[in-house]
Amino acid sequence: RREQEVFARRNPRSQALAQRAQSHLPGGVPMPWMTRYAGPFPLFLSWAQGARVQDVDGHTYLDFALGDTGAMTGHSPGAVVTELQARLLQGLTAMLPTEDALWVAEELSQRFGLPFWQFTLSATDANRAALRIARAVTGRPKVLVFHGCYHGTVDEAFVALEGGIPRSRKGNLGPPVDPLLTTKVVEWNDPQALEGALAEKDVAAVLTEPVLTNVGIVHPAPGFLEMLRSLTRKYGTLLVLDETHTLCAGPGGCTARFHLEPDLLTLGKALGSGVPIGAYGLSREVAEAYAELLRGPHADTAGVGGTLAANAFSLRAARLTLERVLTEESFARMEALGERFQAGVEAVIRQAGLPWHVTRLGGRVEYLFRPEAAENGTQALEGQDPLLDPFIHLFLLNRGVLLTPFHNMALMSPATTEAMVDRHTELFAEAVASL
Ligand code: PLP
Repeated sequence: RREQEVFARRNPRSQALAQRAQSHLPGGVPMPWMTRYAGPFPLFLSWAQGARVQDVDGHTYLDFALGDTGAMTGHSPGAVVTELQARLLQGLTAMLPTEDALWVAEELSQRFGLPFWQFTLSATDANRAALRIARAVTGRPKVLVFHGCYHGTVDEAFVALEGGIPRSRKGNLGPPVDPLLTTKVVEWNDPQALEGALAEKDVAAVLTEPVLTNVGIVHPAPGFLEMLRSLTRKYGTLLVLDETHTLCAGPGGCTARFHLEPDLLTLGKALGSGVPIGAYGLSREVAEAYAELLRGPHADTAGVGGTLAANAFSLRAARLTLERVLTEESFARMEALGERFQAGVEAVIRQAGLPWHVTRLGGRVEYLFRPEAAENGTQALEGQDPLLDPFIHLFLLNRGVLLTPFHNMALMSPATTEAMVDRHTELFAEAVASL
């Protein structure tokens, strides 16, 4: 409560805009997640550059939220936006391809090993399309996801395990179908449950992140990803890897880093430095089966695609982002900063004798309020705390540091500096001391 009062006093302009917004934006926000920051009302931003954002009251923040990964490149990276301006004068969308689409597909093929690519406007769209294609080419009805996953607002994946049964996630508005008809959900790192579900041979695709990131970071147990690959092959199920967040592991995400062999792979968020774009990759076999289907009665629309998908502007943004920002050097830098962030937080936790655990993937760091690493979604959710989470978040926010609201996640960008990381450690220590 004390921090909420500080927040309200500090931010009169945001508060006035938030009040005005109540009349025209449901819940006072243009997109529902924007209420999930810990303050009593959202900050309205005026400006963002590199790893800093500024609100309308003139406070500047060190941004470790980075638009929940949409700005992992840093905000408006100069190497992208300067040249992107030229495209503004050359046409933005025409429903015909530009050469940039080909360049990006070739580059993604090199990085992720999948030869064929298609483009969408978001990672949600990419996942939805990947699942449709998986169902079409296998002729099977169901998908399997892991408890604690998030793959966007894709109906059949927006689910949780409740009493052993897949249910639409709490808060899902008007789910169109019963997830029991479309989806199987098992715990991460449980090969027996996975095999039991796949053995029924009605699963078109397993959709998963190679490391869970949406309930805190949950790494695969040694051998789990190999097991996942061999079981999906054994039972004729396609493996769809969602690398929207785990791209932070390197230029080719976890797929390249851990030598994974997905059948389909989805991307989004950071791919266009904040310009909306998603992408999905297909193996040669899947692409050929898909092409065969397109020759039939589906040639019309195939149930995937969209008017603005693969537009010229998004693809120029993706090309510049891959060419100039999401490079080997940038990933090495982000990883080193992530290590520094982790070491700082771990030292504070150790000194305070707290039973908290820190996990990391590349430049993505997260602390859970439990003593050991979580092994699955249930354990990870137990490691969140409805009071501590918002307290730490708000404490930092009131002192100029922004973390991802949904859990205590911090992301490094190429524009993040060591001094910024150290400032977080200092404030985190103050937050802990004030508990
Ligand atoms: N996939 C993963 C792993 C995500 O975490 C998210 C969003 O948080 C999405 C897909 C959906 O991304 P978007 O909301 O940009 O469509």
